[in-house]
Amino acid sequence: MYPRQFDYVAPSSLDEALGALGDGSKVMAGGMSLIPLMKTRLFSPAVVVDIGRIPGLDSVTDEGDYISVPALVRHGTTASDPLIATHAGALATAASLTGDVQVRNRGTTCGSLAHSDVAADQPAAVIALGGTMIARSSSGTREIQASEFCVDALTSALEPDEILVEIQLPKMGPGEASAYDKLGRRGGRSDYAVAGAAAWVKKGNGTVEDARVGLTGVGTKPTLALGVVNAIVGTDGSDEAVKAAAEHALEGVTVLEDLYGSEEYKTHLAKVFVARALKQAIAAT
Ligand SMILES: Cc1cc2nc3c(=O)[nH]c(=O)nc-3n(C[C@H](O)[C@H](O)[C@H](O)COP(=O)(O)OP(=O)(O)OC[C@H]3O[C@@H](n4cnc5c(N)ncnc54)[C@H](O)[C@@H]3O)c2cc1C
Repeated sequence: MYPRQFDYVAPSSLDEALGALGDGSKVMAGGMSLIPLMKTRLFSPAVVVDIGRIPGLDSVTDEGDYISVPALVRHGTTASDPLIATHAGALATAASLTGDVQVRNRGTTCGSLAHSDVAADQPAAVIALGGTMIARSSSGTREIQASEFCVDALTSALEPDEILVEIQLPKMGPGEASAYDKLGRRGGRSDYAVAGAAAWVKKGNGTVEDARVGLTGVGTKPTLALGVVNAIVGTDGSDEAVKAAAEHALEGVTVLEDLYGSEEYKTHLAKVFVARALKQAIAAT
């Protein structure tokens, strides 16, 4: 299918891109999700603002307290970057399991968050890692916590005139580690998640002092699994404690049946992957 007719602009600076945005426009980064949606006419923007040629947005940087993942960092870079490996292991794994080589060479981590697919990998990791999303419009900049960023299926907290310019990820301190695991559609791992989970934990003196768990694939959006967090913090992080905490994986989450699994199967998988991610993160502290 062909998309409806649209105007195309390829600005060479962020300011120029922000000036071109407004009602009826869409940002294009890697185009890996936008173009299929335009071809199937689920999205029919009047103007596509292609930010892909703006220089200086494609490298992960160390900003002292946090690492910065700007708008044009591709999944392949996220999967292999040494700063991400050190401070955001869950995100490195999620990016390495996103799609195939072509998708990882074109698609961007910020695009994956902005796209807010119900079964996307990287939003769950960024939620678990406590990321801060930096949204810019021509009238200013605002911060959105990752746990508040995905608001519904294919709907993020961004306004039509905003660009997600950067994801900020706090650096790992002593006793902190993270992990991500999923079951991909079609039985493999490099595909959208039937169910998946990311975990970040902070352990000290034999106790889980803090934790965050991000879930994907099971509800209307990647989400923070608050029930698990409340159940694992304060425990010794043993296999028994993890198993008990995973039972709370779906508190506050409406599990949706889809082509890839019934409600019952997804409920089971969510608990399995929450337990796996938590165990891997705890083992790595
Ligand atoms: C064959 C195939 C397999 C895939 N498999 C997986 C998978 O296993 N797991 C997975 O998680 N994803 C998968 N994807 C999706 C892929 O990861 C996309 O690349 C990603 O979701 C979007 O990134 P993008 O840079 O291509 O964004 P685009 O397609 O350019 O944009 C997607 C949406 O986000 C918006 N957007 C993009 N960047 C910004 C920004 N900086 N600021 C504001 N809005 C922005 C666009 O306006 C659009 O609405 C797959 C895609 C394909 C085609």
